[in-house]
Amino acid sequence: MNCFLNRELPILGEASGGGSLRRLPRWLKRKVPLGNADHFTAQLVQEMGLQTVCEHARCPNRMECYAAKTATFMILGEVCTRNCGFCAVKHGQPEPVDLDEPQRVAQAARQLGLRHVVITSVTRDDLPDGGAAHFAQCVRAVRQLCGASVEVLTPDFRLQPEAIAQIVQAAPEVLNHNTETVPRLVRRVRDRQADYGRSLQLLLQVKQGNPAIRTKSGLMLGLGETDEEVLDVLVDLRDREVDFLTLGQYLQPDVRRYLPVERYRTPAEFERLGQAARQLGFQQVASGPFVRSSYHAHEMVAGR
Ligand code: SF4
Repeated sequence: MNCFLNRELPILGEASGGGSLRRLPRWLKRKVPLGNADHFTAQLVQEMGLQTVCEHARCPNRMECYAAKTATFMILGEVCTRNCGFCAVKHGQPEPVDLDEPQRVAQAARQLGLRHVVITSVTRDDLPDGGAAHFAQCVRAVRQLCGASVEVLTPDFRLQPEAIAQIVQAAPEVLNHNTETVPRLVRRVRDRQADYGRSLQLLLQVKQGNPAIRTKSGLMLGLGETDEEVLDVLVDLRDREVDFLTLGQYLQPDVRRYLPVERYRTPAEFERLGQAARQLGFQQVASGPFVRSSYHAHEMVAGR
């Protein structure tokens, strides 16, 4: 995943886990509005024994997403078999797969009245298909029970053909898989099992398997990449017919344990790179300091 969990990062209204506000540039300082929707969603999700990335990472955008009837569910447990340098998810021996989870995700989506449901997971290299069949069951359950559009933000499934076939046949509206960073930095930023070429291949094979599926990818910026390197990745993604793109600022979950922020990119830089992405032909682009993988996900799929 990438997503975020990671990844979806520390609150910008308060100092968290050793990250200090003092170092944040003014454009990254904002109060996070909390309202009934937040409490209702958090409570319901908890009652149903589910996880959302929104609550898990206390994402600063969650009120906006909830208001837009979008939320990101985290399936397949909280423990990842990989260990990326930017990600605050637990690593180690994962929990057994919860077979009732697809139904509960669908029920929660219906009760929350969601119009667009994003489903993500940690990486499960311990499962023969990397969890692809479980993802597919979640897509079908949500579609059947509440008719919402579905976006899956997936690991790379080690590019196993049967796993990719599961996702292609479930036909989510959007398949999202982040390259996270530029090729030169993959070794430092992502787990040693992650591979830039494999990530591109996953996006291409899903598109070739079912051209109706919109494909999406994203990068975190501020880890030492140059603009030229970012543009090269955008060209690589467009060469694989990727439709949607997100570019956001990496924020360190905790100064003691995670990769340092090399630089806070300015809103103007995000605007410029976003413009370049649109000129390269991405149908939908979200580029900005607060942008995360599922940011404005519903607007993207609705073509707004
Ligand atoms: S693979 Fe695991 S450690 Fe890496 S970003 Fe995804 S959840 Fe985090």
